[in-house]
Amino acid sequence: MSIKDNLNEVNENLKKFASHGETPKLIAVTKTVDIDRIKEAIDCGVTDIGENKPQEMSWKYDELKDSVNYHMIGHLQSNKVKDVVGKACLIHSLDRMSVLKEIEKRASAINKPQDCLIQLNVAEEEQKSGLYLDDLDSFIEEIEKRKFVKVKGLMSIAPFAEDPEEIRWVFKKMREIYDKIKNTEYKNIEMKYLSMGMSHDYKVALEEGSNMVRVGSFIFGKRNYN
Ligand SMILES: *Cc1c(COP(=O)(O)O)cnc(C)c1O
Repeated sequence: MSIKDNLNEVNENLKKFASHGETPKLIAVTKTVDIDRIKEAIDCGVTDIGENKPQEMSWKYDELKDSVNYHMIGHLQSNKVKDVVGKACLIHSLDRMSVLKEIEKRASAINKPQDCLIQLNVAEEEQKSGLYLDDLDSFIEEIEKRKFVKVKGLMSIAPFAEDPEEIRWVFKKMREIYDKIKNTEYKNIEMKYLSMGMSHDYKVALEEGSNMVRVGSFIFGKRNYN
């Protein structure tokens, strides 16, 4: 299957979940994918790409400039935040105090608000990043004290499961939290995007209300990390 065929299939599935005239947004995950294949995807209509490493996002940014929107979807070390702020239209991995402080500092330095998603670790998997639910309220309080960090929604990476039905509860829980925050008024926080679902589980995520999916290997094939 070509990139074009794969994109068509994902886009057809996304269309089935259009609500109020809005189709869920596709972030084509391009980590390890070379520039030519990314350009091919852009020619097929891809408008947004996701990268998980700041350095890789930076060199691709230099090549592709504003022909596409960039999403930082990977775990962020504080000292790498400066390479991402201002370039990423959305940082999906705001998950702790040190990163919040650093994004605020860097965004303030260029006097430009930075859109972010709070990454939640609903399944409390120790080896994965993401904020635990117990820490969400105090984290929200801290976000409300800032000026340049603008939260636009939530992100999660569900645990891997052979059968995505097993992790449906994670998406359901995310949706509940999303709706709860949505019904509260905040200065820096609005719930516009619920970023969940990857190649093997995006259909279940869509059924549970995702409106932003991050799909890589289904579009570009198996990744080669060499
Ligand atoms: C790699 C990655 C994806 C895409 O995964 P696929 O299984 O290739 O679709 C989505 N989200 C994050 C955070 C990733 O790192």
